[in-house]
Amino acid sequence: MSSQRKRRLAIAGVVIAGYAVATVIAVRRGYTFGRNVPVRCRDGHLFTTVWIPGASLKALRLGPWRVQWCPVGRHVTLVTLVKDADLTEDEREFAAAHHDTPVP
Ligand SMILES: [Zn+2]
Repeated sequence: MSSQRKRRLAIAGVVIAGYAVATVIAVRRGYTFGRNVPVRCRDGHLFTTVWIPGASLKALRLGPWRVQWCPVGRHVTLVTLVKDADLTEDEREFAAAHHDTPVP
Protein backbone atom coordinates (compact mmCIF):
# COMPACT_ATOMS: atom_id res chain seq x y z
CA MET A 1 0.00 0.00 0.00
CA SER A 2 1.42 3.43 -0.94
CA SER A 3 1.97 6.01 1.78
CA GLN A 4 -0.48 8.38 0.08
CA ARG A 5 -3.17 5.73 0.21
CA LYS A 6 -2.39 5.02 3.85
CA ARG A 7 -2.71 8.72 4.65
CA ARG A 8 -6.08 8.90 2.90
CA LEU A 9 -7.31 5.87 4.86
CA ALA A 10 -6.08 7.44 8.10
CA ILE A 11 -7.99 10.67 7.36
CA ALA A 12 -11.16 8.70 6.57
CA GLY A 13 -10.73 6.82 9.85
CA VAL A 14 -10.41 10.06 11.81
CA VAL A 15 -13.54 11.52 10.17
CA ILE A 16 -15.58 8.37 10.90
CA ALA A 17 -14.29 8.25 14.48
CA GLY A 18 -15.19 11.93 14.89
CA TYR A 19 -18.77 11.29 13.77
CA ALA A 20 -19.00 8.29 16.10
CA VAL A 21 -17.75 10.29 19.09
CA ALA A 22 -20.07 13.23 18.32
CA THR A 23 -23.01 10.82 18.08
CA VAL A 24 -22.21 9.15 21.40
CA ILE A 25 -21.92 12.56 23.11
CA ALA A 26 -25.24 13.73 21.65
CA VAL A 27 -27.02 10.50 22.67
CA ARG A 28 -25.62 10.84 26.21
CA ARG A 29 -27.07 14.36 26.30
CA GLY A 30 -30.52 12.92 25.59
CA TYR A 31 -30.79 13.36 21.83
CA THR A 32 -31.99 10.56 19.63
CA PHE A 33 -31.07 9.72 16.05
CA GLY A 34 -32.69 7.60 13.42
CA ARG A 35 -35.87 7.60 11.34
CA ASN A 36 -38.20 9.43 13.77
CA VAL A 37 -36.27 12.20 15.42
CA PRO A 38 -38.18 15.11 17.01
CA VAL A 39 -37.03 18.52 15.75
CA ARG A 40 -38.25 22.08 16.11
CA CYS A 41 -38.08 24.75 13.43
CA ARG A 42 -37.22 28.41 14.01
CA ASP A 43 -40.93 29.24 14.14
CA GLY A 44 -41.50 26.67 16.88
CA HIS A 45 -43.16 23.99 14.74
CA LEU A 46 -42.59 20.45 15.98
CA PHE A 47 -42.23 17.51 13.64
CA THR A 48 -40.24 14.35 13.19
CA THR A 49 -37.62 13.73 10.55
CA VAL A 50 -34.86 11.34 9.59
CA TRP A 51 -31.64 12.42 11.29
CA ILE A 52 -28.63 10.17 10.85
CA PRO A 53 -25.34 11.78 11.91
CA GLY A 54 -22.96 12.17 9.00
CA ALA A 55 -25.47 10.96 6.40
CA SER A 56 -27.90 13.39 4.89
CA LEU A 57 -28.91 13.80 1.26
CA LYS A 58 -31.46 16.57 1.39
CA ALA A 59 -30.42 18.92 4.17
CA LEU A 60 -27.65 21.42 4.62
CA ARG A 61 -25.94 20.29 7.79
CA LEU A 62 -24.73 22.68 10.47
CA GLY A 63 -23.99 20.36 13.40
CA PRO A 64 -27.06 20.12 15.65
CA TRP A 65 -28.87 22.54 13.33
CA ARG A 66 -29.74 22.15 9.70
CA VAL A 67 -31.72 23.88 6.99
CA GLN A 68 -34.62 21.83 5.69
CA TRP A 69 -38.30 21.68 4.78
CA CYS A 70 -40.75 22.10 7.66
CA PRO A 71 -43.95 20.12 6.89
CA VAL A 72 -45.97 21.98 9.56
CA GLY A 73 -45.36 25.56 8.42
CA ARG A 74 -44.63 24.46 4.82
CA HIS A 75 -41.44 26.44 4.59
CA VAL A 76 -37.70 25.92 4.38
CA THR A 77 -36.19 26.86 7.71
CA LEU A 78 -33.50 26.21 10.30
CA VAL A 79 -34.40 23.22 12.46
CA THR A 80 -32.76 21.97 15.65
CA LEU A 81 -32.81 18.64 17.44
CA VAL A 82 -35.20 18.40 20.38
CA LYS A 83 -34.56 16.15 23.35
CA ASP A 84 -37.31 13.57 23.62
CA ALA A 85 -37.41 14.09 27.39
CA ASP A 86 -38.17 17.80 26.90
CA LEU A 87 -41.43 17.08 25.08
CA THR A 88 -44.85 16.62 26.64
CA GLU A 89 -47.00 13.66 25.58
CA ASP A 90 -49.09 15.98 23.37
CA GLU A 91 -46.02 17.48 21.73
CA ARG A 92 -44.61 14.02 21.06
CA GLU A 93 -47.88 12.95 19.43
CA PHE A 94 -48.00 16.13 17.34
CA ALA A 95 -44.43 15.63 16.19
CA ALA A 96 -45.07 11.97 15.36
CA ALA A 97 -48.11 12.99 13.27
CA HIS A 98 -46.00 15.41 11.23
CA HIS A 99 -43.16 13.61 9.53
CA ASP A 100 -41.36 14.93 6.50
CA THR A 101 -40.46 12.66 3.59
CA PRO A 102 -38.77 9.35 4.50
CA VAL A 103 -35.61 10.12 2.49
CA PRO A 104 -32.66 11.02 4.73
ZN1 LIG B 1 -41.99 25.54 10.67
